[in-house]
Amino acid sequence: MNRNEKSYRIRQMRRDAHRNKKAVPTAEALEKLAELVASDGMKCPACRRAMNWLFKDGRSTVVTLQHDRSGVIRLICKGCNSRHHLHPADTFYDLPEGHKRCPRCEAVKPVDAFYRLATGEIVSACRECERRSQLARYHRSPEAKRAKHQEWLKANREKVKEQRRKYQELNRARLTKQERLRRERKKAS
Ligand SMILES: [Zn+2]
Ligand SMILES: [Zn+2]
Repeated sequence: MNRNEKSYRIRQMRRDAHRNKKAVPTAEALEKLAELVASDGMKCPACRRAMNWLFKDGRSTVVTLQHDRSGVIRLICKGCNSRHHLHPADTFYDLPEGHKRCPRCEAVKPVDAFYRLATGEIVSACRECERRSQLARYHRSPEAKRAKHQEWLKANREKVKEQRRKYQELNRARLTKQERLRRERKKAS
């Protein structure tokens, strides 16, 4: 562990707590918590992933000072800290493994019930809520959706042409087959 990074982050956490009008632990208290985390291999106590003192591959693994509503303070990763505040009281810690709470419908659901971005990141609201708001957006302005589709067609002209060609080819084969069958039936009768 880099001593400078840790001391720097501890100063930041105390300053942020002060700014956010939350309890400001002493630097010594934070050093003690930092020691505990370090002796646990820098793992986030809530999600068990490796934490960093400073930004590294994004913000979500940075060590943050968590003020539980019970009054307990602890060091957890930024990702968990953000999720904690979406949950009533400290129920965040009781979340079954592989589950997430949808901030829109407030239901706790397995992560499979949420869409994932191409980056692997899980979308905040659940699939059901996402679908519902997409539908609502569509009903509010179907023209916008249609215009967007036209735009897509224009931008993907080659792809569309290719798809059309394939469809026609397939259709032609299907039609000739039908024709052949019809002729055979005629012959047989
Ligand atoms: Zn975590
Ligand atoms: Zn939802």
